Amino acid sequence: MPKAPELSVVIPVYNEAENLPPLFQRLTHVLDQQGLSYEIIFTNDGSHDASLDLLKKFHNDNPRTVRVIDFHGNFGQHMAIMAAFEQARGQTIVTLDADLQNPPEEIPKLMEKIKEGFDYVGSYRHNRQDSFFRTHVSRLVNWFRETTTDIKMRDQGCMLRAYSRQIIEQIVRSGERSTFIPALAYKFSGRPTEVEVKHDLRVAGLSKYNLYRLIRLNFDLITGFSLIPLQLFTIFGIAVSGLSGLLVLYMLLRRFIIGPEAEGLFTLFAILFFLISVVITGIGIVGEYVGRIFQTLSQRPRYIIREIIEKK
Ligand code: UDP
Ligand code: MG
Repeated sequence: MPKAPELSVVIPVYNEAENLPPLFQRLTHVLDQQGLSYEIIFTNDGSHDASLDLLKKFHNDNPRTVRVIDFHGNFGQHMAIMAAFEQARGQTIVTLDADLQNPPEEIPKLMEKIKEGFDYVGSYRHNRQDSFFRTHVSRLVNWFRETTTDIKMRDQGCMLRAYSRQIIEQIVRSGERSTFIPALAYKFSGRPTEVEVKHDLRVAGLSKYNLYRLIRLNFDLITGFSLIPLQLFTIFGIAVSGLSGLLVLYMLLRRFIIGPEAEGLFTLFAILFFLISVVITGIGIVGEYVGRIFQTLSQRPRYIIREIIEKK
């Protein structure tokens, strides 16, 4: 059993062949300068470009410090990180994107905070370099998460973060399925803090997140950490039934006093359509939770590892 390093750096990789060589070069440069013992764990999340070959080469050139987990398919960024957490041996664990949007040069800043005694060091991006659409939708989602869950973080999307070993062990033990790692870690943290980090444009390739995947991720985040959507729904239901009760009473009295009425038909339709759409949304929200229960109960593995390439 190799001795535990002070730091494990965890990097999920999905078709990042062009970014890997500069990333590896910059990362090892920074880590070597720090003078602490480290390991780098890459998870190849089912890439179909040359990523895996590059990772194998990194390992062959640096068998002591580089470990590669090769997934059997694409299981998503967060599962790729989760698998690496299970393997990580470091006292501190840092997560990083492979596309160089998170500059490795910021890692010492995170380590500083860990040394000060924080067990969770989050980050928010200074001058975020993403599309106008992404940046603004993110703001909205950040706000919604902030109001519906008790997870406080300025920028949920930034993956350049450092965690203490205890938090990672908790996460691994919890065995959660579809999960948002920074939020889960925050839950288990006793002393969290945040630092500002630089953010660069993606150097090569495209973002792996399309609109659908972003929506899924955010649903997971909210239904995974809060029951407020369900509760809001119940409260709304109670309020609407109160109001419609009053309306029925009014119509009844009116019928006795003035007689039956036939106008206002389309107002009625409008109200009806609105309520039907609310009901459909409600079924959707309930479905999110049912789906979550279903996934948790099913015994299927969260991810399948083809091979772990490391020095035995
Ligand atoms: N990633 C992954 N599996 C996926 C999608 C993304 O391992 O299914 C990795 C990707 O290679 C990168 C990180 O997760 O290292 C962040 O992905 P991306 O840059 O596409 O996300 P964005 O910066 O647009 O949020
Ligand atoms: Mg990116």
